Amino acid sequence: MVHGTFVSDGFIKVRGARTNNLKNIDVDIPRNQLVVITGKSGSGKSSLAIDTIFAEGQRQFLESLSLYSRQFFKQGFGTDVDSIEGLPPTVCINQHRGTSNPRSTVGTMTEVYDYLRLLFAKAGQIECPDCSIPVNPQSIDSICERILGFEERTKVMILATMIQGKKGQHGEIFERVRKERLVRVRVDGTVYDIDNVPELQSNKQHTIDAVTDRIAIRAGIENRLRESVEMASKLSSGSVTASYCVSGSDQWQEEFYSTTQACPQCGFSCPELLPRTFSFNSPFGACEKCEGLGVYEAFELERLVPDLNRDLANAVMAWKHLNAKQVQKQIKPLRPILEQTGIDEKKPLNSYSKETLEQFFHSNDKKTPGLLTQLQRELATSLDDDWLGVLESFHGQVKCSACDATRLNRLARSVKIDEQSIGELCSLQLDDLIESLGEMQFSGVLKEIADPVRAEILSRLEYLVMVGLQYLKLNRPSDSLSGGELQRVRLAKSIGSGLTGTCFVLDEPSIGLHAQDNDRLIETLQQLKQAGNSVVVVEHDEAIMDVADHVVDVGPEAGAQGGAIVVAGSAQQVRACKNSLTGDYLAGRQRIERNIISEPADHVIELIGARGNNLKGVDVQFQLARLNCITGVSGSGKSTLVYRTLSPAIKQHFELVTVAPEPFESIRGLERVNRLVEVNQRPISRNPRGCAATYTGILNDVRKIFSATKVSRQLGFGPSRFSFNSKQGWCGECEGHGVKRISMKFMPDVFATCDSCNGARYNNQSLSVRFRDLNIAEVLALTVVEAQKYFSEFSEISKTLKTLADVGLGYLSLGQRSSTLSGGEAQRIKLATELVKSHQGHSLYLLDEPTTGLHFADVQLLLSVLDRLVRNGNTVIVIEHHLDVIRCADWVVDIGPEGGDAGGELVFAGSAIGIQACGSSYTGRCLRKLKA
Ligand code: ADP
Ligand code: ADP
Ligand code: ZN
Ligand code: ZN
Repeated sequence: MVHGTFVSDGFIKVRGARTNNLKNIDVDIPRNQLVVITGKSGSGKSSLAIDTIFAEGQRQFLESLSLYSRQFFKQGFGTDVDSIEGLPPTVCINQHRGTSNPRSTVGTMTEVYDYLRLLFAKAGQIECPDCSIPVNPQSIDSICERILGFEERTKVMILATMIQGKKGQHGEIFERVRKERLVRVRVDGTVYDIDNVPELQSNKQHTIDAVTDRIAIRAGIENRLRESVEMASKLSSGSVTASYCVSGSDQWQEEFYSTTQACPQCGFSCPELLPRTFSFNSPFGACEKCEGLGVYEAFELERLVPDLNRDLANAVMAWKHLNAKQVQKQIKPLRPILEQTGIDEKKPLNSYSKETLEQFFHSNDKKTPGLLTQLQRELATSLDDDWLGVLESFHGQVKCSACDATRLNRLARSVKIDEQSIGELCSLQLDDLIESLGEMQFSGVLKEIADPVRAEILSRLEYLVMVGLQYLKLNRPSDSLSGGELQRVRLAKSIGSGLTGTCFVLDEPSIGLHAQDNDRLIETLQQLKQAGNSVVVVEHDEAIMDVADHVVDVGPEAGAQGGAIVVAGSAQQVRACKNSLTGDYLAGRQRIERNIISEPADHVIELIGARGNNLKGVDVQFQLARLNCITGVSGSGKSTLVYRTLSPAIKQHFELVTVAPEPFESIRGLERVNRLVEVNQRPISRNPRGCAATYTGILNDVRKIFSATKVSRQLGFGPSRFSFNSKQGWCGECEGHGVKRISMKFMPDVFATCDSCNGARYNNQSLSVRFRDLNIAEVLALTVVEAQKYFSEFSEISKTLKTLADVGLGYLSLGQRSSTLSGGEAQRIKLATELVKSHQGHSLYLLDEPTTGLHFADVQLLLSVLDRLVRNGNTVIVIEHHLDVIRCADWVVDIGPEGGDAGGELVFAGSAIGIQACGSSYTGRCLRKLKA
């Protein structure tokens, strides 16, 4: 490293930081300590922790790499800082998904799977997948020993299998036997002298063994037997057969041996076990059918034909979108299979046996295609977009039947340790996996090899348990993890990697974690520090601030009114600081409040018998026109209940395209809901050009204003001239992005400001038009508050701007790119847009941990917004761990009691006061403590 740790006196010294809204600040961060950076959303925490400290760490790392990389950061990075001294190598542990890779699992991500592969390669026992008998390579000596163990005077024939079940006359085989000076062969079970073998029929399959010896068991044959066995093994590349007949009987029996890893019975031959044998990301280990993905794209039969009580024309859901004539057209190519299976299209499908239906659905014979095969053909050939859309909506990822979703091929699945395959171990919850691994017994030489590998695996698993993820499984696809889970997996991995002398930057590690599990997270952070690392955490959690060695409070407000250090010191010092909003809340000078609506709701939604993932057939009531809060430790089943069952069930009710809900029995009360709105923290736009002004529709109005100016009318500029999404408006160089992406190997892409428009995004003609003093790019650079003044007489724009300010986004500039907005900012832009349009009520809002990234003061604002929605007659359902929000909810549903298999039950439903009396609820317990 260029800037080694030797420079400073125990501090990371940041001087003159000006990135984003930072006000040329100096900060000293104590090294090898746990440091929390806090402040309102938009105050500049991430600008300091990530865009300055981490980015500088990356820059220094790159600098140490190569001259080639160095040419980029002059234009890239966007860090604006005079200097940072004493910065160790820096690692950022965040919640970003990055590019989602369907081949990544919890196992591969944490490297635990790599160690498991090693363990299986070293200590795995192969079982023949067909014969289910162990496949062990044996030495010549041990084979001889075995044969010499037969009863005295037993007649034995030692055989070498030359060819097995192959068509042909096989002259060359006999030639080879002759060359070895052997005199007998066995052809299809009959022994012949080599010169008397009858001519073989070339169109029939034959099995030929060379007889290397005929001998009777007695003392003194040891050397001769050894030579014969060796010869047999040489001739048949490792496999030796002993055909024997005990004296006094005429029953010939056979035993098979192998000096290589081949099944002695069927010859299934197995290459040497290597770690790659178990990799589903390598052709050596991947299942041939799904290519190691565990799933493949296909029609989901349960959704396509959910009800077998109907006749064919009415059973196929996709056909509901067709008229009668079109349905007949669909049935026509199915006539041959209907005839073959004897299915009468007018009779309900369940009048036929499972096997018959199986054939009807799945047959892939060219002449008699089954239903799914026929639809697959449609999908490949139809030109009708609507129809294709319908078909695609029934298409999804189906569990691979060949590998049972283990992603592995037959060989990899056939290797066991203690009767468990690697795939089976990966489908255990981590706490159960630890137990299974602990029980494995290795002996002898194996012990020396296997024990250290197992220890490595166990220590990594313990870290995952420590960050509260014991309910996960190694085979869980990474892209199905929540952001919080993802970050904690990365945290566990970092500790497991044993790095020291590193600066770890974390972005709200408490996300998705129940207050109950906070202690273990804190312990993990402490451990990371004790290993000799600097730990810098962006956090709002009081408990973490309390244990931190140093707290930096950024503010006082957000955006241009933020970017300064309000106070830095111990949590106690922050509490004592009267200028600090954080201090106000920590010390109790301010408190998060909401007027709870305590009258029970007039109407409810009732979800009966939900059984997705770990849910144990729960019945749950959600209250309409109330603030509902779903709580429970992580992994207890909240997302499964709300996002994977309730939400798709409602969408189905509205006949919207959706993924299939997890299984449930029934749902009642939806007739009082008009609309479902999911307000999540995903970017507001997939278009990287998107921004608050485009999402909220403000830009449309502004473009009209610009095209109505005198200059525009003279030049004939319409509204699209002022769109950076259109050729007429955008800067041709960067196509309206304002930045150019530079791809770097091993590094996240770097964005450099476009040198043609200097980030303005527009071309010169568009920029030449002004409304009052500003051109369109300058308007987009205004903050919400500034824009309120500028456009005060335009009522539509003003209304939207006011709502944005109401949700605490007054500091945001109208044109800030979607990809640079934090999750919390994106979420509040969505909420504000909702507030503008919906006063009619009867909407249902689903929010997943809306307090992510929010300071106490922001949480108060958020609660006010949610309260407004509820008082307008809308229903709000939030999944939340923030105790203040739970305390302020009208109706609390607690799922648990634990995560994973030990969860998935309804622990409590009722008021926030009521849950405190519920002994079995962790949430209740934490709320009680909060009060004390
Ligand atoms: P925090 O982490 O405290 O929520 P940030 O550091 O993300 O705040 O943001 C501080 C200010 O800088 C905000 O006004 C934010 O909108 C702005 N900002 C953040 N990233 C960028 C960026 N890439 N370009 C322009 N402005 C940004
Ligand atoms: P919560 O939202 O309360 O954290 P989840 O609903 O995400 O809980 O998880 C409940 C259980 O279901 C956990 O054991 C989790 O590991 C499991 N689970 C969740 N999503 C998936 C998935 N996509 N595949 C397999 N298991 C899952
Ligand atoms: Zn497969
Ligand atoms: Zn440009």
